[in-house]
Amino acid sequence: MAEMPFVDIDIEDEFAVCSTYEVNTKKKRKRTAGRENEEDSERKKKKKKQYRPNYFVSIPITNPEITGGIQAVQDTILQKDQRLSKAMVHCGSLHVTLLVMHLSSKEEVSTAVGALSDSKSLVEDLLKGKTVDLSFRGIDHFRNEVGFVKLADSDHTAVLTEVAGAIKKIFQEKGILAGGDRAFKPHLTFMKLSKSPKLHKEVKKIDPSLYEKFKSHYFGDEILHRLDLCSMLKKKQPNGYYYCESSVILGEKRAAEPDDAELLSLSKRLVENAVLKAVQQYLEETQNKGKQADGSPGKTEDAAGGSKHENEHDGSK
Ligand code: C5P
Repeated sequence: MAEMPFVDIDIEDEFAVCSTYEVNTKKKRKRTAGRENEEDSERKKKKKKQYRPNYFVSIPITNPEITGGIQAVQDTILQKDQRLSKAMVHCGSLHVTLLVMHLSSKEEVSTAVGALSDSKSLVEDLLKGKTVDLSFRGIDHFRNEVGFVKLADSDHTAVLTEVAGAIKKIFQEKGILAGGDRAFKPHLTFMKLSKSPKLHKEVKKIDPSLYEKFKSHYFGDEILHRLDLCSMLKKKQPNGYYYCESSVILGEKRAAEPDDAELLSLSKRLVENAVLKAVQQYLEETQNKGKQADGSPGKTEDAAGGSKHENEHDGSK
């Protein structure tokens, strides 16, 4: 049930789908007969549906200043036109799309998971330790059907475009149908009519005067920190965010890779523990010998104190 076409489709639903993959259909000879034309367009439609994007690489928006600002825009719009409530993007699912793709099997999903994992080190190399600070200011739209918050033009946005290009290359090199014809235009969608086909029939265009007040509003900054491979179709998480097949945290070591400082501190602790144990054993042995000579019991207070000391050093409490 989780992966059902058209369930909860919330992104890229009417995206100019991967037309790159409609392999050479345009180049095919023109058909003249009306019936053949119809068949041709039916075939094209089927192919489009077949390659409709169902996964995407997302940068989640987590800064409450941004989500709060977007909530204010949505409230302002809804005060003027309540019908548009069905067009609003839930604040928990706000994101910037880096790449859309079509994955048609479990195997392709795991290939994509591998591609995202490979993207981590490549993106980190590209960033060379610098952070990407995404600054959100002002509102714009696609065809008056999608309302989005803009990314301010800056070096950081240029770096983001590079990052998106590098990730697209990795996914494509693994044979994944990723990316469409459109140039990458980073944006933060807060409403789109396609969320409700019923509404879209009734409301063809979003009136820009509805969000006029926020035309140049500064919404806040988001530091690029995490990339998710999300499903467009699977049931969303309780917090409203998309189902994630996998995520990578940028600038964070993988769990099994301690750095030099960690290794040094670990080996220091091991040596300290070994020395303490040896000293403790030596004390116990010499004092036991002494006690045995004067006939008193073997265990000493010093040795018990040593034992406590050892616990303090091996980190257990
Ligand atoms: O990726 P996101 O969910 O923000 O996209 C929202 C909508 O914007 C999608 O339906 C997509 O088709 C549309 N879009 C567009 N032109 C672009 C990028 C996205 O019309 N350059």
